[in-house]
Amino acid sequence: MGKGDRMAGVATTRYPLIEGRIQAEIMRYVRVVDRPVSRSEMTEVLGVSRSKVSLEVGRLLEAGLLVEDGLAESEGGRRSSLLGIPPSAGLVAAVDLGATSIDVALSTLGSELLAHRGEPADIREGPQPVLGRVKEILSGILKEQSAGPQDVLAIGMGVPGPVEQASGLLRSPPIMPGWHLFPIRDAFAGEYAAPVFIDNDVNVMALGEHWGGVAKGVDNLLFVKIGTGIGGGIIADGRLYRGIQGCAGDIGHICVDPEGPVCSCGNRGCLEAMAAGPAIASKAERGARDGLSPSLHEVLDERGELSAKDVGEAASRGDYRALEIIRESGQLVGRVLATLVSTLNPSLIVIGGGVSNIGHSLLAEIRSTVYRRSLPLATRNLPIVLSELDQLAGITGASVLAAEGVLQTTRVG
Ligand SMILES: [Zn+2]
Repeated sequence: MGKGDRMAGVATTRYPLIEGRIQAEIMRYVRVVDRPVSRSEMTEVLGVSRSKVSLEVGRLLEAGLLVEDGLAESEGGRRSSLLGIPPSAGLVAAVDLGATSIDVALSTLGSELLAHRGEPADIREGPQPVLGRVKEILSGILKEQSAGPQDVLAIGMGVPGPVEQASGLLRSPPIMPGWHLFPIRDAFAGEYAAPVFIDNDVNVMALGEHWGGVAKGVDNLLFVKIGTGIGGGIIADGRLYRGIQGCAGDIGHICVDPEGPVCSCGNRGCLEAMAAGPAIASKAERGARDGLSPSLHEVLDERGELSAKDVGEAASRGDYRALEIIRESGQLVGRVLATLVSTLNPSLIVIGGGVSNIGHSLLAEIRSTVYRRSLPLATRNLPIVLSELDQLAGITGASVLAAEGVLQTTRVG
């Protein structure tokens, strides 16, 4: 990835890459503490010599990746200067692809959001039209910031399917026909020199919650998304835990009933097939037709179909069957989470995704099931809360994925 060996006409970046392990560690530390840092603090924290830190900081200052940012508290002698990452260090592009939406954002290397645009889309149209639209939106918001592709340091992307970590390729994604093994990185390569980092959307949301949401500063947490599907993201010891291939946390396909309905993955009785939005909606439609819920029957008559949101609204009006359906979902999710609590012993569970907002009864049922089915020691201090970032969790996480990724991609040779 050296600049010198690029041929004319190939995409370039005007920013130098981080060179070497120490520069990367310095940049990562300043980014994570999110305040100006002195050279002596770096020397202490990174465990390298003061002269080495000074040398590498000098190079980073010259490259524009760090700036002098105020003076340290006096320790008797001359006050030393503090260092920070300037907004001009480069832009990070964040892309959050959902089953039915595209969100694109620009942020600083410090993950401060500068611009965001979202619109409805259909992931089933396939990679070419969807990524084409992503690139159009991205170049539009870059222009608005008076910037261009050469200003982008890294691109981070969350996708609603399983991503093989090493290659960044989707593998047999159940709801993304046409995306299996599609080279997403290559789609950007003609215009952007920036590296592209791709991960599962729920992992990306977990990164977002950990960086700037209700889980900020919590180093052992479980993020659970309940929407059209169900997925989990695990932060362990402050880092996203992906497992060997990148599938860790894919809880939607844990079997909760071997006799249950067939799931999009081909197996029977997966948590997702039994408890996610479509399952809630189809149970409600059955209940409405069977005369178990007059209020759902009325909505079904009017519109011809029901959504999880309708069920939430009926439950809030006191509809017994709607409440029962939500409780069934909450119990199924709660049972799987109780297993995870026993395996991972997290200190926080954050619930997000479209269906998480259908009313308090879902969260209440998840909570009581987890508390009832886990060991008291594991749940003694285990808050289970709703996401605060909500729609922004995905793009916040995608910008974290990109920034952390580029600070690990050190130039070789
Ligand atoms: Zn499944």
